[in-house]
Order: sequence, then structure tokens, then C-alpha cells
Amino acid sequence: MKVFNLACEHGHAFEGWFASGDDFESQQARGLMRCPSCDSAVVHKLPAAPHLNFNNSPEPRAPQRTAAAPSATTPAPAELTPAQAEARALVLQTLHKLITESEDVGERFAEVARKIHYGEDEQRSIRGVASVEERHALEDEGIDIISFPVPGGIKETLQ
Ligand SMILES: [Zn+2]
Repeated sequence: MKVFNLACEHGHAFEGWFASGDDFESQQARGLMRCPSCDSAVVHKLPAAPHLNFNNSPEPRAPQRTAAAPSATTPAPAELTPAQAEARALVLQTLHKLITESEDVGERFAEVARKIHYGEDEQRSIRGVASVEERHALEDEGIDIISFPVPGGIKETLQ
């Protein structure tokens, strides 16, 4: 039995239980997998042993604000529907789990992620910091990483 962390196109995170990895692939291919929150069939698997990458600056190519809403800042919690708030809490919960169960390798993130990928180091989840260039190089080598900005303070809270 395999348990995968899954997420739909709307960011609802949930767990899927499968007889094998192949079982997941075939159910996904046939569109049999549905998000329990919104019934979307667009479901993808979150890496089981992700390498978490903290970067303190937001990805420059990902626009934080749109031209249509020049004064928009981070949405206030009050703007979320209960369902959205619940989905968000689930995603945060999943992230928190990934973070607390991974090893902090700090500045050596890129080096260690590469060693693990090529079997030169023990297979495990790690987290740390990497520059934009390092992240792109890792992605080019096919190394799974999850990258997200860490606002000041959160890093400490999570450890
Ligand atoms: Zn959904």
C-alpha cells in the first residue's frame, strides 16, 4: 500500500491510498481520481520525499500583484470562504509536516540535494536555502524541489 500526498488544480491537498505507484498512474491517466473538496479530476502528486527549498526573496518572474489591482496586498483571511480557508489550512498543515520531518542542511542545500539525487548520500528529505541559479540548475538536472518564500519569522516558528 502506498500513500501519496495529492493536490488538485485548486490547491486542495489530500491523501491518496494506492496498491502501488503504477495504480496511481493508471487511475490518474483514466481520470478516476477526484478531489474530495471540489471534484476536480486534475490531480497531481506532491513529491513523497521532497527537497524543500527556502528562498527569502520571491521568485522575480512570479508576479505578486496584477495591474488590475495595483493596491492589492496579501489577501486578508476574511476574504476567504470557509472552504478556501480549510484548503489553505490543509496545505499549510502538509507543508508543516514536510518541514518538520526534513533535515535542515542550510546553505549546503544544492550540494546535498544533488548528492542524494545521484545516490551518493542517504535518501531523505532535506530543506535549506539556495540561490535562484542553484534552483534552476537543480531543476535542469531533474531534481524535485519545492520552493517557496519564507517571510521573516516563519522559519523559526516551524523548527
Ligand atoms: Zn479541489
